[in-house]
Amino acid sequence: MADIPMRVDVDAVIVGGGIAGMWTLARLRAEGYNAILLEDEALGAGQTRYAQGIIHGGTKYALTGKLTASSEAVSNMPSIWRACHAGNGELDLSDAVMISDAHYLWSTANLASKITGFFASQVMRARTTALKPEQRPAIFQHENFRGSIYRLDEPVFDTISVLRALAAPVMSSVVAIRKGSIQLQSSKLTVEAVNGDGYEIGFSKLMLMAGPGNEALLRSADLSEPSMQLRPLKMVMMRGGITEKVYAHCMGAGINPRVTITSHTDNDNNIVWYMGGQLAEDGVRRSDDEQIARAKQELTTLIPWQNLDAAQWATLDIDRAEVRHADGHRPDTFYFDQQGDIITAWPTKLALAPLLAQQMLELASTIEKTDAALPAWPSPPFADFPWSEESRWS
Ligand SMILES: Cc1cc2nc3c(=O)[nH]c(=O)nc-3n(C[C@H](O)[C@H](O)[C@H](O)COP(=O)(O)OP(=O)(O)OC[C@H]3O[C@@H](n4cnc5c(N)ncnc54)[C@H](O)[C@@H]3O)c2cc1C
Repeated sequence: MADIPMRVDVDAVIVGGGIAGMWTLARLRAEGYNAILLEDEALGAGQTRYAQGIIHGGTKYALTGKLTASSEAVSNMPSIWRACHAGNGELDLSDAVMISDAHYLWSTANLASKITGFFASQVMRARTTALKPEQRPAIFQHENFRGSIYRLDEPVFDTISVLRALAAPVMSSVVAIRKGSIQLQSSKLTVEAVNGDGYEIGFSKLMLMAGPGNEALLRSADLSEPSMQLRPLKMVMMRGGITEKVYAHCMGAGINPRVTITSHTDNDNNIVWYMGGQLAEDGVRRSDDEQIARAKQELTTLIPWQNLDAAQWATLDIDRAEVRHADGHRPDTFYFDQQGDIITAWPTKLALAPLLAQQMLELASTIEKTDAALPAWPSPPFADFPWSEESRWS
């Protein structure tokens, strides 16, 4: 780092260029705050590139048959994201790619009566649509399909395209920094950009939105709270011989979907089925080979007409980073904590990034806006999707 760091004063510094940090940066700058964002790898490199991209409207969380705090928190999210995508929302996501207009929920024949009764309930009628056979997604129009299927008003987004759309108007305030170079003192931090330039940055608010990286950042600020929990998942990817895209939760006997499938395309335009849900939660106790065997077994049971002869498989270990609850339960909604000038936040879900960003705007309302010019610093790249990384498939 250069001996004398350049001094820059801004209104807010955000650490972490995932969905939470980028949505917040875009909102703050649109409202006239001189906000910047520091990223030490690539935009989306954390959980955001691994997300299935579903903008939940709460249906999955209401599978107990009653509305939970989770389902309430997310119920407006699809309309917020759709408005942004249509170009008339709080931010312009018209260049982002909506890979499916809806997500679906299906059950196998033996659970069909349970699911039908549940969807007939008052709570769910407004959120879902029962489908006639000809309205089903193509893969569920197969003559061997038994069971029921419902359309959820839950769009699915290409998450990196969302980050690109968020970044477009604010990229000059996004800084590529060297890993481990952030040093925190009160109301100022020093950092080294990837080109070796050093900066001393004065701020009114520091927003730690670095996903799993928040824990180390808190430690470096001598803060022991809030505590973070990591929830491990073993996701499965499959490609080869697939002609149909699937965006659906398969409902099992429990309240979690037995498997959640989204579809993406790799660099050679192969369709990739990306599988999570209970399969991925239970999968952390299995070896990679056992997990692949389990995924094959699930697909053979649930979609027996899909030919798996040409399939290639890969597993993918990834942690979800969230605030820790004393009793270990999953957070229902986004979380933030403010101690002095330092805010720590986790969105809990991609879908909730707009709500979290709104909360950050409210916390920023005490800041007096400034407009000092920013240096021409280096920008970070965008992360790749895991299914585009060929080494994962071998
Ligand atoms: C397998 C999986 C599937 C999911 N599917 C869905 C879904 O379908 N729908 C949904 O709503 N949610 C989903 N989620 C949850 C969602 O992905 C996360 O809640 C969300 O992406 C978290 O975003 P974030 O910005 O907080 O963190 P992250 O995406 O983890 O971003 C953190 C960023 O901070 C950077 N960083 C870390 N440390 C530092 C540091 N010291 N200095 C600078 N930068 C740093 C990282 O490089 C990264 O870019 C899923 C999660 C997983 C793991």
